Amino acid sequence: MSDPKDHLSPVWKHYTNIVIDHAEGIYVYGKDGQRWVDFTSGIGVTNTGHCHPKVVEAIREQAGKVLHAQANIYYHEPMLALVEQLQQIVPSSLDTYFFSNSGAEAVEASIKLARHATRRPSVIVFNGSFHGRTVGTMSLTTSSTIYRTGYQPLMPGVFVAPFPYAYYYGWDEDTTIDFCLRELRHLLATQTAPKETAAMIIESVLGEGGYVPPPARFMQGLREICDEHGILLISDEVQSGFGRTGKMFGFEHVDIVPDIMVMAKGLASGMPLSGIVSRRELMDQWEPGTHGGTYGGNAIACAAGVATLKVMKEEKLVENSAQMGDRLMSALEEIMPRYKTIGDVRGRGLMVGIEFKGGEDKGKSTAVAVQKACMDQNLLLLTCGPYGNVIRWIPPLVVNEGQLDESLQVFEKALQKANA
Ligand code: PLP
Repeated sequence: MSDPKDHLSPVWKHYTNIVIDHAEGIYVYGKDGQRWVDFTSGIGVTNTGHCHPKVVEAIREQAGKVLHAQANIYYHEPMLALVEQLQQIVPSSLDTYFFSNSGAEAVEASIKLARHATRRPSVIVFNGSFHGRTVGTMSLTTSSTIYRTGYQPLMPGVFVAPFPYAYYYGWDEDTTIDFCLRELRHLLATQTAPKETAAMIIESVLGEGGYVPPPARFMQGLREICDEHGILLISDEVQSGFGRTGKMFGFEHVDIVPDIMVMAKGLASGMPLSGIVSRRELMDQWEPGTHGGTYGGNAIACAAGVATLKVMKEEKLVENSAQMGDRLMSALEEIMPRYKTIGDVRGRGLMVGIEFKGGEDKGKSTAVAVQKACMDQNLLLLTCGPYGNVIRWIPPLVVNEGQLDESLQVFEKALQKANA
C-alpha cells in the first residue's frame, strides 16, 4: 500500500516529518523513539503541557458518561461547570457565553453578535491581524497575503487600520501610537462611518502578525473611540488568552475591558473548544436560533476546559508564565547584542518573538536557518510575521527554569550555526 501520508492534502504545510507517538509536559515523542522539546505548544494550545494527567482523567471520566449532548437539546454538567469556572476569571461585566469548536468559529460568532447587537455592518481590523481561515475570518486577516491569495472575493465591510508596530515603522512608541490613533479616526471619517461600524476586533498581542504587544495608551485610545461612537470592542484572546501573556487574558496588561472576548486554544488543553463571552444586554440582542452549531460546547471538550482551568489555578501557571517570561526576555535581550541579524526582541509573558533583519528577505532566511538548527537539536519553534522573519517562543506554561535555560543554550548554538 502507498504511504498514507501521500493521501493527505498538500494544503497542510508540514513544519516537521515527526510521526508522533505520545506526548507529556513539554515533550513529544516520535514513533522512532526520539524526544522533542515542543515550544510550539501545538500553536499555543497545550498551555497545561501535553496530556496533563488531570485533564486526561477528566476526559476519560466524561467519555464514560456522555460524549455528545447537543447544546440545543440538553444542558450538560461540564458546560455549566465551565461557565462557573470562567466567571471567576473574566471581568464581571462579561457574563454570558456562547461556545463553539475553533478559534475562527468563535471569531465568526463575535462578528455575528456585534452585527446583530448594533444593527451595523462594518468591522475594523488592524494591520497584521490573524483571526482565522474561514471565508469570514480570512477577510479579517491581514497578517500575510498567503491566507487570502486565490480566495477572493472576500467578505465585504472590513476596514483595516494600522497596528502600533513601532519596530516596523521605525518610530518611537509615542509617535507610533499617535499615528495609529489618528489614522483610525481618519478611517472613521473617510471610509466607514461610526454609525455603520459594528465593531473593532484586535488581538491583545498580535500573534501570527509577528508577536507584537500593543502599548496600553493605544488600547485605551481604542476603548475611548469605541465608547464615543457605540462601536463594540472585540478582544481576540485565541492565542494570547489563558495565561499565555503572564496574565489570564492579554487585555489585562492594558487595563481595558472589551465588549466581547473571543477564546479558544488554551481553554481546553487540546480538545476543540472555543467561545465568546459578552454582556448579557448585548447577548439579549442575539435572536434565538440565528446562530448555533452541532458540536459547539461539546461535553468532553468542556470537561477538559474545567480541568484545564483548575490545573492553571492549582499549579499557578499564570504566575509561572510571568516569571518564566521575564527570564526568557532577559536571556534573549542579553543574547541579542551578540548577533547582528537580531533586530528586535519583544513580547509579554511566554509569548515572545525575535525579529530577524537584513538581506532582501528582511531576515527570513536567517529565521528559517535558526529554526532548522534548533530542530536539528530537537527543539521545536515556530516562525511568524508578515515576512516570516520572527521566531516565536510559545512554550507550555508548565515549563521550568532548567528546561527554559537548556532551550536557550540550544537556541544560541543554533544562532551560531546559522551565522546569525
Ligand atoms: N485568532 C487568533 C488570534 C489566532 O491566533 C488563531 C489561530 O491561530 C485564530 C483566531 C483561529 O483559530 P483556529 O485556528 O482555531 O480557527
